Amino acid sequence: MRQTYRIGSGYDVHKLVENRDLILGGVKIPHKFGLLGHSDSDVLVHAIMDAILGALALGDIGQHFPDTDDKYKGISSLKLLHYVNDKIISLGYKINNIDSTVVAQEPKLKPYIQDMRVNISKTLGIDIDCISIKATTEEGLGFTGNKEGIAAQAVCLLKLDS
Ligand code: ZN
Repeated sequence: MRQTYRIGSGYDVHKLVENRDLILGGVKIPHKFGLLGHSDSDVLVHAIMDAILGALALGDIGQHFPDTDDKYKGISSLKLLHYVNDKIISLGYKINNIDSTVVAQEPKLKPYIQDMRVNISKTLGIDIDCISIKATTEEGLGFTGNKEGIAAQAVCLLKLDS
């Protein structure tokens, strides 16, 4: 694995339910619903981790952090991202940049985007301008539109750290 650049993409979806915190990019967002899952269900961080693992051709987060393992129950996804970052470094790569999109009908995410970028860039030890996070809706269509769930996608470009 000595290519100068390696690109990866990630996609994730979690269901919105009552009595769960809504955590996106490591930020707890006040909302009536939260995302269901084994960890803190941070769908944005999950998509970013899958993009990184994809760039390294190392499978997906389900293989690295099985939801059958109690060790990961309720865990902060930023901790998992830290582990994935160690993989990048151990293989001699560094992140060039990440671009991502969260698809949610509500709540409005704009007020929290900057804090998400801070959390993710700090966890990865890279400049904040290497992390782009966008938010959109699907105009009331589909499972994000009818507020059944939130989706996120990400792309990541790694470069050889020479
Ligand atoms: Zn997930």
